[in-house]
Amino acid sequence: MLTSGMELRQTHPLVAAVAVCAIAIAPFCAAQSAPPAAPPSILDRLNAMLDGGKSAWTPEQLATMERLRDAAMKDTYALTELRHLTDNIGPRLSGSPQAQQAVEYVAGEMRALGAEVTLEKAMVPHWVRGAETAELTAWQGQTPGTTQKIVLTALGGSVATPAEGITAPVVVVDDWQQLRALPAGAVKGKILLFNHAFDKELAAQGNGLQAYVGGVVYRGAGPIAAASLGAVAVLVRSVGGADFRLPHTGMTQYAPSVPKIPAAAVTAEDAELLKNLTGQGPVTMHLTLTPQTFPDAQSYNVIADWKGTEHPEQVVVVSGHLDSWDLGTGAIDDGAGVVVAMQVIHSLKELGIHPKRTVRFIAWMSEEEGSEGAAAYMAEHKDVMVNHIGAVESDLGADHPTGIYYSGKPELGVWLRPLSQVLNPIGAEVLENTPETGEDIEGLTRGGVPSFAPIQDSRYYFNYHHTAADTFDKVDPKHLDENATVMTVLAYALADSVETAPR
Ligand SMILES: [Zn+2]
Repeated sequence: MLTSGMELRQTHPLVAAVAVCAIAIAPFCAAQSAPPAAPPSILDRLNAMLDGGKSAWTPEQLATMERLRDAAMKDTYALTELRHLTDNIGPRLSGSPQAQQAVEYVAGEMRALGAEVTLEKAMVPHWVRGAETAELTAWQGQTPGTTQKIVLTALGGSVATPAEGITAPVVVVDDWQQLRALPAGAVKGKILLFNHAFDKELAAQGNGLQAYVGGVVYRGAGPIAAASLGAVAVLVRSVGGADFRLPHTGMTQYAPSVPKIPAAAVTAEDAELLKNLTGQGPVTMHLTLTPQTFPDAQSYNVIADWKGTEHPEQVVVVSGHLDSWDLGTGAIDDGAGVVVAMQVIHSLKELGIHPKRTVRFIAWMSEEEGSEGAAAYMAEHKDVMVNHIGAVESDLGADHPTGIYYSGKPELGVWLRPLSQVLNPIGAEVLENTPETGEDIEGLTRGGVPSFAPIQDSRYYFNYHHTAADTFDKVDPKHLDENATVMTVLAYALADSVETAPR
């Protein structure tokens, strides 16, 4: 993701010129007694300059987008829904009672708006966190009779240690190269820590997702690499950017041919401590993790259709994932994505707008533990891929959006330009091509469906991501409305355009 340059970062100079002219000549024009014919609207002229006169929308439709934009920016619906999902229902771990409660709640809210609601079944993982403690029992300079606490959290899907825990020496490597350079047998019977530091400078420059991708490979593949060398447990340095001794959980992976060993994320601070102490001499840790994995549970994607008036069989998907990790209450990941998609339906209802095509809200289930909900949707709808006109997902938090990511044909960037001008007043006019827009809509993207996501400010997202601090207060109401606005205007544009989006 985030591979290409920005196509339309700022207001087109010609557009700015027209805007200035329009203001300057307006009083003069009004004073003319009999203009020969209705002059072209500013939108007509703007489209003519930007797109050679071609636009997928009529001036009336562009005006409707402006109405939707202005209404969405004032709407408190998404914020109210997010507060309920997070504060009242709470964490929504796949297979949990709260996840089921969230399914029923969101379905009820969508029915109340008059949407046609379907619950589509998906079998999802049912993993439950247990005790998770660790302390050092021997290290250089230890005060006799003491231990030292290590702050960590089990990775999703991890197997347990024995109830009484395990005690073993700790080995620290920064990366794969250091692991490969260890002498044979160096990891056997040990607890191996992957101490890969999150690239905070990359994140601070707005490339949070790239910083995340750089570290998450150790979280995913660490247990397989460690177990294949005979380790008895694996630790990874948390993949995140904050300095508040918060561990970041997330899914890990096992391979059938390799023993499953307990896996946890330590805080960045504890990773540094372990690196320092293991550099001084032997370090021994006592580690206890008691998660349980139950048989897969039946759960649901919530689907709510705002039916199209001319082509109800053609759908535009707006979505976020309803499940969350269990440490926080899943506000930025991804309650925010769900509620901005809910607000699309709310805005259409409030303004009495019924586009030609169906706008389909989807709250995906179990994105965090393997995207089982998305896989079930693809299996169910694979034969009607051609009827999916576009798909939007928000799953990178709720901070200020600077525009729209799109995935598909390059022509999409040109097609979206009039829309970009509608979003210019809220600072969301950038159009950027990307290979990947969202985990849950990846199957649709691969199936040739044009897909989209808000370009969210990712500088702070990974400070809270998958931690106990992912809570309602982290969401700025204005930024949430901006995200809802981007999704609402985009959904309407896709669902009502004269010609469908290029694919
Ligand atoms: Zn997410």
